[in-house]
Amino acid sequence: VDPPGGARAEAVVDLDAVRHNVGVLRASAPGAGVMAVVKADGYGHGAVPVGRAAIEAGAAWLGVCTLEEAMELRQAGITAPVLSWLHLPDDDFTGAVAADVDLSVSSRSHLAAVLAGARRAGRPARVHLKIDTGLSRNGAQPAEWADLLDDATKAAADGLAEVVAVWSHLAYADVPHHPTIDRQAARLTVAWQEAVDRGLNPIRHLANSAATLSRPDVHFDLVRPGIAVYGLDPMDRPPAESPLRPAMTLRCRVALVKRVPAGEGVSYGHEWTTPRETTLALLPLGYADGVPRRLGFNGRMRVLLGGVVRPVVGRVSMDQVVVDCGDDAVQEGELAVLFGPGDRGEPTAQDWADELGTIHYEVVTGVRGRRVVRTV
Ligand code: PLP
Repeated sequence: VDPPGGARAEAVVDLDAVRHNVGVLRASAPGAGVMAVVKADGYGHGAVPVGRAAIEAGAAWLGVCTLEEAMELRQAGITAPVLSWLHLPDDDFTGAVAADVDLSVSSRSHLAAVLAGARRAGRPARVHLKIDTGLSRNGAQPAEWADLLDDATKAAADGLAEVVAVWSHLAYADVPHHPTIDRQAARLTVAWQEAVDRGLNPIRHLANSAATLSRPDVHFDLVRPGIAVYGLDPMDRPPAESPLRPAMTLRCRVALVKRVPAGEGVSYGHEWTTPRETTLALLPLGYADGVPRRLGFNGRMRVLLGGVVRPVVGRVSMDQVVVDCGDDAVQEGELAVLFGPGDRGEPTAQDWADELGTIHYEVVTGVRGRRVVRTV
């Protein structure tokens, strides 16, 4: 957040914070491995730099959603185990098997597609069989489980697959004592035991960030934290009360400063009118860059500029927001912080989420586009 750089708008990613957060997660799950989830380009922070930092800090695995995301990590030279978990039935798995990417499988047809990839690649596929224990999203229905296990057991015997894991995903991990957690964990264990009974030797994994931090009884062999790696507290504790350190700061440089008389309407629709003569600072980013238009609606969006937290006035537009600076001297080219860890008084991603009625996940993954430079 210090010296003005050249970029008009920057998402500055603090990899020390990522390493710290992985350390917190490892300490919370001493008996389990850590898979740092870096899907969606590392929740907007950059999958490759975050993945590398997480591995340096002791994460043993990386988790992603798509094959493309997995291949990006491999192409960057990351050799740690990578699991990819959401595929289309006609995805070609050959390259992923050849690149030693672990593949999640949620149905017999998906397993058949993975095995076809394994045949073409000339090596066994590493599969994680996913059971739907109560989220009703991805994962095999319990009624299909026995057939899926039969297919997987045969594939293992034929040398086409190695069944690495049986796994699932929680619906209510952010409510630590929610009864569905016990129920989902019990269903996972039953499904895993059925695999063990067939002579397979899979690990079990279930916990996301919230369960990693709050439910040691469901850590099993591997935990899969995402949001906490980025320092955003899964239980929404404010940064001061959380052991985690937010990694992303969104900042930009002031494009223009002007003195405006009283009574001037500001931005589209003139939702705000200068109540007195005042200084306005123009920031060169808007909803195309991940500053939601709705954030400006209630007049409560704030930025840190010149050491003072100041209000954004008028509507957020595609490329611009306007800050009311009163009679203070602000400089063109000066840095403004839109959100960050909060330790200098700037808003946090959690503050934005509260204003927007959403979750901080959506705030950080929403910072994107070719105009926001990512600095690590
Ligand atoms: N595991 C799976 C299957 C996921 O889809 C996600 C993210 O949604 C995670 C783990 C990480 O979750 P969180 O970011 O809440 O830690």
